[in-house]
Amino acid sequence: MELKGKTAIITGSNSGIGLGVARELARAGADVVLNSFTDNDEDHRLAQEIGAEFNVTARYIQADMSNPEACRALIEQAGACDILVNNAGIQHVSPIEDFPTEKWDAIIAINMSSTFHCTAAALPMMRKAGWGRVVNIASAHGLTASPFKSAYVAAKHGVVGLTKVTALETAQELITANAICPGYVKTPLVEAQVPDTAKKYDMTEEEAVQKVILERQPSKEFATVEQIGGTAVFLCSAAADQITGTTISVDGGWTAL
Ligand code: NAD
Repeated sequence: MELKGKTAIITGSNSGIGLGVARELARAGADVVLNSFTDNDEDHRLAQEIGAEFNVTARYIQADMSNPEACRALIEQAGACDILVNNAGIQHVSPIEDFPTEKWDAIIAINMSSTFHCTAAALPMMRKAGWGRVVNIASAHGLTASPFKSAYVAAKHGVVGLTKVTALETAQELITANAICPGYVKTPLVEAQVPDTAKKYDMTEEEAVQKVILERQPSKEFATVEQIGGTAVFLCSAAADQITGTTISVDGGWTAL
């Protein structure tokens, strides 16, 4: 129970990677704060279930990560933040000339600027506590590019840059900042793309996964949310005290190509 007594805030954590990371941090003993922009019974139930399963305090706080004040209010309302996992993210795929301005603005705000606002609010709490971990969920698209994902690739490269600055500004304190760069991870979002991709390319779903979705992932396997969560737990461990300002790829070899 290495993280007992620590409070972790995970943005965008009522599904997918965020939820997986929250569960692994709770398994390691951290109290967790789940977040998304919705405020449904189901959101609060998820937190209750994690609290009961891992015997930690787990809360859900609604906050829209596209809104700078709401980002800062999330951290303030949580009251403590030893571990900040900036995970909330959305995607839109379109050529640059057709890319809707509102989609560009939303992706930059949610995927990148929320990381800045949450970090700015969390650092004073980490400094007061004398310990802290910032874990930014970037992407293989924080290190490489794909066509038609201009806003996403720009935002994720921005997150990698911000991670380095955060690390330098905290380098002489017991605070670290790192980015995890997942390749394709099996989340409901990605799973939902399989039937459409199969239809589009007139393939079986298995072929669509292997030949289209995992085309750039040499392992031909999805990463799992538990693996991303386990990487976050490692970054929060004492073994990672001197790991700061870097990226850790969990991408089945994508960025080695
Ligand atoms: P997901 O859609 O399952 O999760 C996204 C989370 O962000 C959800 O909880 C959603 O409610 C939340 N969210 C969206 N807009 C929000 C807003 N305005 N305010 C607060 N919360 C908001 O997708 P995911 O695949 O789990 O993605 C999580 C993160 O991982 C994203 O940053 C994504 O870019 C990154 N990522 C995912 C993959 C992948 O293959 N799934 C790969 C690399 C990086």
